[in-house]
Parts: sequence; structure tokens; C-alpha cells
Amino acid sequence: MTIYTAEHKLLMQMLHPAKHQEYSDVLSSLGLYMEKEILPLSPKLDTGEAAMAGPRSALLKQGMSLIPFPAEYGGLGLPFSVYATAVELLGTADASMALSIEIHNAVAEGVLRFGTESQRQLHLRGIISGRKLASFALTEPASGSDAGNMATTAEKRAGEYTINGSKMFITNAGEADVYLVFAKTSRGPSCFMVESPRAGLKFGAELKKLGMRGSKTREVIFSDCRIPEDNLIGEEGKGADYAKEILHGARIVVAALNVGIAQLAYGEALAYARKRRAFGKAIADFQLVRAKLADTKIGISAGRLLYLYASRIKEMGGDYASEASQAKVYATEMSLRACDEAIQIHGGYGYTTDDLHRHWRDARLLTIGEGTSEVLRMLITRRELARSQ
Ligand SMILES: Cc1cc2nc3c(=O)[nH]c(=O)nc-3n(C[C@H](O)[C@H](O)[C@H](O)COP(=O)(O)OP(=O)(O)OC[C@H]3O[C@@H](n4cnc5c(N)ncnc54)[C@H](O)[C@@H]3O)c2cc1C
Repeated sequence: MTIYTAEHKLLMQMLHPAKHQEYSDVLSSLGLYMEKEILPLSPKLDTGEAAMAGPRSALLKQGMSLIPFPAEYGGLGLPFSVYATAVELLGTADASMALSIEIHNAVAEGVLRFGTESQRQLHLRGIISGRKLASFALTEPASGSDAGNMATTAEKRAGEYTINGSKMFITNAGEADVYLVFAKTSRGPSCFMVESPRAGLKFGAELKKLGMRGSKTREVIFSDCRIPEDNLIGEEGKGADYAKEILHGARIVVAALNVGIAQLAYGEALAYARKRRAFGKAIADFQLVRAKLADTKIGISAGRLLYLYASRIKEMGGDYASEASQAKVYATEMSLRACDEAIQIHGGYGYTTDDLHRHWRDARLLTIGEGTSEVLRMLITRRELARSQ
């Protein structure tokens, strides 16, 4: 299967007429690497026969996380649309690795945007080069969508913060070297960098999940966990704003990831429809099967354009919160339909083929994670009402 396709290339040409060849070379080389090294491993990451750590680290060495970050911190300094496209490619190769890496990169974005220069120097290079794995810890056992209502506290005393509380459903937890943690100070939700291992920092057991099984999800528990006061990111009381900003960018990437899953399921459905025969012809010749394939293809194209549109607004410095959420809601729901239709087109083999189930199980997470579809629909209308005043 070709992961970086002629369609991606054409879009790069349209979006970046002056530099498309350079960007395409980066994406094409990553795509080839993923086809060879990640795609064949994906079923084994799902069953646990292969571990994520080694291949993820090897992919990070290929520059996957360097793409959108400035050259002064070791990055490639390429546009966000190039990075989002790379995540789409990884979503096709292995969705759980794409999830792990997009969250890792969201932490880097947080440090870049809200950290001090010395925090950037200390953490950014290590994260984007893959030397340090990062994790984003916002959700709690009793607050997810309503994350501002967090119970975890960070009390300042004698040049240190002491963190108490716990964070739930945290991707990369237990494996990561650094955690971007949101906790309440006397000024409200604030953001901290917590390095692991550290006294008072513990992890729950690995959670059993419907999909995205290659990535690890655990609770992160803080019991009198002390960190230097310099580990505060930005200003006290601004953590909720930082989390929202980081998540707006991450939603574009999650949309891209889901377009990648849909592309994989669609490719498998198309190949099967061409080869499976019924009533004397290929099932791809039946109009109702063609309609399913056509609707899936339209959805993939639309999802891709939505995430690239949001990416371009971000690159141009505009307000992209609504467009990022539109892309995420559309692409995550579209990819679920695409995976479901792929199962339908495979008939009984669809119901009994692990690989097809995995695509659907992986896609199922992201109408929930990083902003549920319900909450994002509210965000979109809130933003659009404000824009139309
Ligand atoms: C595999 C996995 C990985 C994750 N990784 C991370 C991570 O790395 N870091 C992190 O911080 N979090 C992570 N999460 C948490 C994830 O972001 C939350 O699960 C998500 O934000 C939803 O929060 P919740 O589970 O508390 O659901 P709730 O907020 O309790 O929502 C439950 C239901 O109520 C609905 N609802 C809530 N409020 C409203 C409203 N105002 N109007 C209408 N409907 C509403 C929701 O849409 C949902 O359907 C992960 C979750 C999973 C499952």
C-alpha cells in the first residue's frame, strides 16, 4: 500500500507552490519508512505481540516530531499543514503510534508557546528529537470535558510546588520522561512540567481499551510530589487557557489521524470489492457497493480539506479554534462510518477479520478523546455566534 499518495502531493503543491517539492520529499520519505517499518507491525502492536517503544523511538529518529518546530531548537521549521499530513500518514500506518506521537508533540507545542526560553532549551530539543517521551496530563477521574473543574492541587512553599491528586486516561503514562501537568494553585488552574521518575509520582495499572491498544493509557497519581518552582510553565492561573490553546492545535492533528484510518479502511474495502464476486460479477460493479465506496471517498477528501484548511489558518496566525473543531468532529465521525462500511463490504469476512475490527476500534476513541463531539459542537456554535455579532 502507498501511504504518501499523488493526492497528498498535489495538495502540497496547491498549498505551498514555492516549496512543495521540499515538503513532499520529507513526507514521501516518512511515508516510505512507515510502509516498510510501521504498517506491517500494526497488527502486532494491537495484540501486544510487539511493543511500541522501539519502533516509536526509531520513527522519532526519522524526524517525525521535528517537522513543525523551529530550527533553533533542532526542528525542521516546516508548516503545520506538512506536520498534520505526516500524522495522517502515520494514522494509516498505525493509529495507536500516531496517537502516542501527536500527544507527545502537543506537549512540545505547549513548551514552545508558553514556556520560558530556558524551559524551551531544557525540554524542546529532547522531546522533538525523541530522546524524551512526553505525556499530557489534564483529564481527571471526575473531570474530563469539564477539565477546568480539576481537583489536583499544586501548593507553593519554599521554592517548590507540591502536587497532590490524580490524572486519568493519560496516554504515554508510565513510559514518558516528562509530563505536562495541569493543577490548581491559589490563582487557579496552572501548568507544570514534571520529570519522571520522581518521588510522589506513581502510575496506575495499564487500562484495558477497546482500541488504540499499542499505546499505553494509565492513571497518573501525585502524592506530595515536589517539583522546583521553575517547573511552572507560563503564569499561575493561566493553565486552562494554555490547555485550550494546545488542544485546538491537537484537534487538527487528530482530524488528520482519523483521515489516515479512513484511508486505510477504504483502501482495503476497494481492493476487496474489486476481487470478491457475486451473481457473476465483482461486487464493485453493484451500484449500492459503489455508493458506499463513493461516500467514503468523499468523506476522506472532505476531512482532509478541513484539517488542511484549519492548518493553513493556524500557519497564517488566525483564530482556528472553530475550524480545528469542525475538522475533528467531521473527520472522527467520518472515519467511523468508513470503517463500518469497510466491514459491511467485506460481508461475513468483515465480521471475522481482525484487521478490519482494529481500524474501527482505533477510530472509535477520537469522537471522545481531546474534546468529545458533543462538546466541540457547542464550541463551534459558540465561536460562530461570537463571530457573527
Ligand atoms: C484512550 C484514551 C486516551 C486519552 N488520553 C488522554 C491524555 O493523554 N491526556 C488527557 O488529559 N486526557 C486523555 N484522555 C481523556 C479524554 O480526553 C476524555 O475522556 C475526554 O475529554 C472526555 O472526558 P470524560 O471521559 O471525563 O467524559 P465526560 O466529560 O464525563 O463526558 C461524558 C459524556 O457527557 C457528554 N458531555 C459532557 N459535557 C457535556 C455538555 N456540556 N453538553 C453535552 N454533552 C456533554 C460528553 O460529550 C460525553 O458523551 C484519554 C481518554 C482515552 C479514553
